[in-house]
Amino acid sequence: MTTDTLPRRKSVPVDVGGVTVGGSAPIVVQSMTNTDTADVDGTAAQVAALARAGSEIVRVTVDRDEAAKAVPRIVEKLAARGVRVPIVGDFHYNGHTLLAENPACAEALAKWRINPGNVGFKAKRDLQFGAIIDLAQKFAKPVRIGVNWGSLDQELLTHLMDENAKLANPKPARSVMHEAIVQSALISATRAEELGLGQDRIIISAKVSAVQDLVQVYRLLAARCSYALHLGLTEAGMGSKGIVASTAGMAILLQEGIGDTIRVSLTPEPGGDRTLEVKVAQEILQTMGLRAFVPIVAACPGCGRTTSTVFQELASDIERFLRQRMPEWRTRYPGVEGLNLAVMGCIVNGPGESKHADIGISLPGTGEAPSAPVFIDGRKAMTLRGSNIAAEFQAIVEDYVEKRFGAAKVREPQT
Ligand code: SF4
Repeated sequence: MTTDTLPRRKSVPVDVGGVTVGGSAPIVVQSMTNTDTADVDGTAAQVAALARAGSEIVRVTVDRDEAAKAVPRIVEKLAARGVRVPIVGDFHYNGHTLLAENPACAEALAKWRINPGNVGFKAKRDLQFGAIIDLAQKFAKPVRIGVNWGSLDQELLTHLMDENAKLANPKPARSVMHEAIVQSALISATRAEELGLGQDRIIISAKVSAVQDLVQVYRLLAARCSYALHLGLTEAGMGSKGIVASTAGMAILLQEGIGDTIRVSLTPEPGGDRTLEVKVAQEILQTMGLRAFVPIVAACPGCGRTTSTVFQELASDIERFLRQRMPEWRTRYPGVEGLNLAVMGCIVNGPGESKHADIGISLPGTGEAPSAPVFIDGRKAMTLRGSNIAAEFQAIVEDYVEKRFGAAKVREPQT
């Protein structure tokens, strides 16, 4: 189930290779590769994995000529595998040169990301920024103006700090830094507009690495412009820390209607799965009721009433089963992502929670009879027993999906 009652900040929609970011479009999930883009096979494989996991836009680094030359080959390779996710190029320092000298790369990319803090320095900055904006108009590409406080325009920051110091009541240095981040993004966006790039080709981001800074910066940005906003906490970190920090910051802003596309910047464990950032982004949006991607499983945390591991195993089996089945279900059963399941550990809350779900199972707690009642659409439908409960429950879910959402698909042409 999704929530359409949350107010959403009004923004100008931007077409990113067929995916709309902003306006009334659903909040888009995006991700970024960590392969060397010059490695065509490795990058194409990772983009495909991210897209399969649900990333709707994927960004790649374009840092040198070999990487720029690889981009069209990566896009071709993906198309040959049936993967049509828009690819965004991430440029720093030499974007103007790479894009001018590699028109096939400029064309193959669905959007270009530039950082006003390092697009060029001193006298060259305006020239190089202008060159990129001219090329964006020539190739009809949108541009993300992505400020990052790690590479903030130092001239602008110094100027604002000096001005602040002259005030009778200077603001805290942190507030001045927030202002510098916001101004850096908005000055660049205004300049891009003056050079002819429409608002429908501009997306803004202003990434910081601390939750409270993120909230303050994006609130300022949202109040001062109607550009589509890319939301994300930069350098969020590894494991649960990165997930919690990203969720805490983005949830506050999403709840206020701020954010048109999100990326969760997780540092993977060595050899870890890059697609985790996509899963987390989807889960943030789904648990907030903003979008639905995969059926939700409500599972109780377990307690002293569940001394066996059967309950945990069933909950994790069913999660895995749903993720495996979704690629096929998504095409065959429209609306299936809104399905709600419950896997509960004992009789205390089991039957009640299960009745609220489309399908729920209440497993026996310690000392209870070894049977597991299954509830479908709020009514007890059957009781499972024995050692094959997991497989039987999955078959019940598959059957329910076919009957409920398969029928919806058949009805579609009549509407
Ligand atoms: S439903 Fe039962 S097992 Fe689960 S947390 Fe509640 S009391 Fe514990």
